[in-house]
Amino acid sequence: MRITERNPDIREETLRVFFAIWPGDVARVQLSGLAEQLRGKSFCSGRKTKTENIHLTLVFVGEVGASKLDALYRVADEIKDSGMSAFDFVVEKIRYWKRNRIVYATTGGIPPELTGLVSTLECALSTAGFVLEQRTYKPHITLMRDALCQTLPELAEPIAWQVREWMLVKSEQTSGGSVYTPIGRWPLGI
Ligand code: ATP
Ligand code: MG
Repeated sequence: MRITERNPDIREETLRVFFAIWPGDVARVQLSGLAEQLRGKSFCSGRKTKTENIHLTLVFVGEVGASKLDALYRVADEIKDSGMSAFDFVVEKIRYWKRNRIVYATTGGIPPELTGLVSTLECALSTAGFVLEQRTYKPHITLMRDALCQTLPELAEPIAWQVREWMLVKSEQTSGGSVYTPIGRWPLGI
């Protein structure tokens, strides 16, 4: 957390937060192994995402004052009460964004439940006064950063897990890299 100093009379702590999904333990280890293989087999050079940090962002909220957290929890509680369903996320592809040198894993077909959850969140957050970037949602799980790739292999087998909850996560930049801490969890109906 840090202190904003825009107005010296009102100093408020801020947090960098985003809504996300964390793959199940097995899938997260498989995805991490995949990133390791990309490096080991010289497909790509770059910084591998730590296993515990492997995630799928739903909505990036950004820097918010600590006093805004209650509003974020309220938005999420209301969405939870609207009865969103659990769904399978199936990773089938590895891709590379040259412009930001990111290697990521993604799915062949975006589950409608995921599209629904993201658009419901975006809409509810905007209504609650949060200003979001207007980028089209592209589900991606970052595997490597600062990457340079020769070529990318096809995935031998899909990596899948059942998404049963979504989270609000605090992101802190430390000398050891990004540290993500869940500060709220909401279940999806099974
Ligand atoms: P770093 O920025 O130091 O590389 P990071 O990207 O891991 O660290 P954050 O920048 O806090 O950490 O981002 C948290 C998550 O939100 C990541 O999945 C990131 O890709 C995503 N994200 C960050 N900024 C945006 C943005 N402007 N729009 C959409 N998603 C974003
Ligand atoms: Mg970032």
